[in-house]
Amino acid sequence: MLELTAGQISMGLVAADKAAALRMLAGLLEGDGLVAPGYLAGLEAREAQGSTYLGQGIAIPHGTPQTRELVHSTGVRLMQFPEGVDWGDGQRVYLAIGIAAKSDEHLRLLQILTRALGEADLGSELRRAETPEDILKLLQSAPQELALDDQLIGLGVPVEDYDELVLQGARLLRRAECVGGGFAAALLQGEPLPLGDGLWWLHSDQAVQRPGLAYLTPEKPLRYLDQPLNGLFCLASLGDAHLALLERLCALLIEGRGRELARATQRRAVLEALGGETRPDWPSLRLPLANAHGLHARPAKELVQLAKTFEGDIRVRVADSGAAAVSAKSLSKLLSLGVRRGQVLEILAEPAIAETALPTLKAAIEQGLGEEVEPLPLNQATEADVEPQAQPLAAPAPGSQLQAVPAAPGIAVGPAHIHLHKELDYPLRGESPGVERERLQRALSQVRGEIEALVLRSEAKAIREIFITHLEMLADPELGDEVDARLKQGESAAAAWMTVIEAAATQQESLHDALLAERAADLRDIGRRVLAQLCGVEDAAEPEEPYILVMDEMAPSDVARLDRNRVAGILTARGGATSHSAIVARALGIPALVGAGAGVLLLEPRTSLLLDGQRGRLVVTPDSAQLERARQEQEGRQRRLQLADAHKLEPAITRDGHRLEICANLGDSAAAAKAVAQGAEGVGLLRTEFIFMAHPQAPDLATQEAEYRRVFDALDGRPLVARTLDVGGDKPLPYWPVPEEENPFLGVRGVRLTLQRPHLMETQLRALLRASDGRPLRIMFPMVGSVEEWRQARDMSLRLAAEIPQADLQLGIMVEVPSAALIAPVLAREVDFFSIGTNDLTQYCLAIDRGHPTLSAQADGLHPAVLQLIDLTVRAAHAQGKWVGVCGELAGDPLAVPLLVGLGVDELSLSAGGIAEVKARVREFSLSAARELAEGALTLESAAAVRELAERF
Ligand code: PEP
Ligand code: MG
Repeated sequence: MLELTAGQISMGLVAADKAAALRMLAGLLEGDGLVAPGYLAGLEAREAQGSTYLGQGIAIPHGTPQTRELVHSTGVRLMQFPEGVDWGDGQRVYLAIGIAAKSDEHLRLLQILTRALGEADLGSELRRAETPEDILKLLQSAPQELALDDQLIGLGVPVEDYDELVLQGARLLRRAECVGGGFAAALLQGEPLPLGDGLWWLHSDQAVQRPGLAYLTPEKPLRYLDQPLNGLFCLASLGDAHLALLERLCALLIEGRGRELARATQRRAVLEALGGETRPDWPSLRLPLANAHGLHARPAKELVQLAKTFEGDIRVRVADSGAAAVSAKSLSKLLSLGVRRGQVLEILAEPAIAETALPTLKAAIEQGLGEEVEPLPLNQATEADVEPQAQPLAAPAPGSQLQAVPAAPGIAVGPAHIHLHKELDYPLRGESPGVERERLQRALSQVRGEIEALVLRSEAKAIREIFITHLEMLADPELGDEVDARLKQGESAAAAWMTVIEAAATQQESLHDALLAERAADLRDIGRRVLAQLCGVEDAAEPEEPYILVMDEMAPSDVARLDRNRVAGILTARGGATSHSAIVARALGIPALVGAGAGVLLLEPRTSLLLDGQRGRLVVTPDSAQLERARQEQEGRQRRLQLADAHKLEPAITRDGHRLEICANLGDSAAAAKAVAQGAEGVGLLRTEFIFMAHPQAPDLATQEAEYRRVFDALDGRPLVARTLDVGGDKPLPYWPVPEEENPFLGVRGVRLTLQRPHLMETQLRALLRASDGRPLRIMFPMVGSVEEWRQARDMSLRLAAEIPQADLQLGIMVEVPSAALIAPVLAREVDFFSIGTNDLTQYCLAIDRGHPTLSAQADGLHPAVLQLIDLTVRAAHAQGKWVGVCGELAGDPLAVPLLVGLGVDELSLSAGGIAEVKARVREFSLSAARELAEGALTLESAAAVRELAERF
């Protein structure tokens, strides 16, 4: 990287004119071995294209792209001309900085220089400078602005203590390129200063590259040194850049507005209060810069000139960097961005001129801003193109078909109901208490009316009760009083309402009680509804007829709350087929498609949709022929299911007499009886964590025993395979917080977690053993990856089983970590059975997050690599006379069934709703044919090839 040093500076030179100055410069660069003879022609050619005068008496002569080959090594030489040199256009140069650059290393230098350009009278000071050191000081001492924008604000950060909050602050500063490695450790060692109202200030000047301030509030109230910790300022300190901010902060605190910061829910509100940089909410576009040497002086000048032809503000920033946007009309500011080739520019234009300015600037940048540009490599260009803001996202067009991840089978037709949580901006200060109070009352009564209508319409009792609770919250006099007190202090209705709601919700959460935590979610829910009214944002009313619910992503609890009679289908922008929310959708029998892309969120409300949850297809505004076909398919599927249903209680036997055991996956003890009625021959996977989640606190021994007993009773002698608690990853327990991990799917989850908390694991094992009463109990441990984990879990179980004797106990493991499959021959000697969790096994084998928004469609359990692992597991188990089940979602995929049977799997466990269909499928083929199919599949190259083979079976 180019740096300025005193040795590069020649003082007190005289040149008759620009040509002479260039000759001197070329001679110096050549003499110092930086360039080959001939570079002067490059310097002259460059000046002929356009003056390199930068401003404040500085010029930066440099060669053309054609003379870059003459550069031996990148460097700069500075020449002071106290008398000045006429640089054309009436500009006088006192300092010429000659650059010999092979590529774009000089951009960093330009950044330093352009900061100095902001200094009031730099030109004359450069002229008067007497030593190289004076020059250096002048160029480098320009104060850098304090970085403080919305990327440096973190509100409601989920942390456990002060240290974690500090580390998050350091992370924000690092992301904004304010600090380098070593800053976080230095910051942690700093002495925080309490500012009152639970606000703290902490700073460090170690490893600081540019000054910046991060502000964070914790998700739940914390304490530090016996005082509340509601908000933390982390300063990356460099020079005096922060002084103005600090003064402003002190003024805020004196005015008694510290609580406003501590309780802030909007980044914009914090920035407005602190005077930071708010990102204007203007139309914008993103595009990559292709200029070989970045946005250096010449293209930047073109951009400035173009921007100046528009009468309105235009700003530019490097997308996704921490740096604030600068005016496109200021050359020095543009240069200070230091944009390199390939970086993505974000251009924002005032709404009044955006429509004409943005396309004009886009075209100019694409054409190289006066330079010839080599197109960027394709992936770089595409990366920018697919950035959400690069090309405004569009909703899928009427008549279009979209492929997404099939998450729950079935065909659904209905109007789209878009359910979005938008971040809303609002003013902090109100017009007057009276006006704001009236505004709030109007919004409250509007929301009350909407919720009353929902109460009347909700058939499901549980859903009705949720809305009744919401009505009670709206009428809560305490909330009302607190809001009113804030209105009297001059706050806007929206700010007062949201501050009070957020504080109440945070307080509920801090009590670590699942029920109260849910109440916090409810509070935020009504908070948002009222805020939307205040901001004039209408939440689309639910259609009267059954609709397709369109969401960004869904949490299992969102799905569980759905009214099956109103929601015909679910469509999400993000998510994968084996995410737990998809599993819940399947259990509820609601056709679902996930991971359809953000475009679906832009669909017009009530757009007619046809959703095929089996094939993963969405049709937007289907025509009558498509609707008719869908209706016929629905009927055909209905007929097939009816037929299968008629035989659901009969065993699943292949044509050549091989019997498969077909069991149910359960997450709710109350569902066991229904599963048996649907044909389950046992429970093949009891996800006990869902039972834990249904309780407000960790269920004690007696409560768990009652839950498990209920399953045994319903099974009436059929086996129960219970999995010990599998939390962590995407299944957190609200009352059992697990420290946040960078990568929770590869962290402390499943059996790793319970082995660390043996007391809890013992209670669960005791409850299972006591509930069995001699009935067939199989216990299995999730996420086992090593023999030691299995042995530890086994030993604990055997010790307890010695206390609580069992008539029919088997101990096994889930095979869902590739290492378990690979050492299956060793494990098979010790376990009683294996149950293959294909959801996680696929995720870990293919290295694709099962809930990944865009990749999870490729996380297909029929990938030959996953089939190899299944094959290995089954062979190892059978060699030791042990049985193998599959309890991942693959077991319920009719296409996968013959393959699993052919690989030798003995038991399939799936959502109870699919049992009849899977049993019917098993009856359609012979074991020998299935074996042949599986053998063929093992040799194929991709999941798609396996699916194609299986389709033909
Ligand atoms: C699996 O991983 O396949 C499995 C059945 O477990 P879960 O989906 O609950 O993680
Ligand atoms: Mg799993």
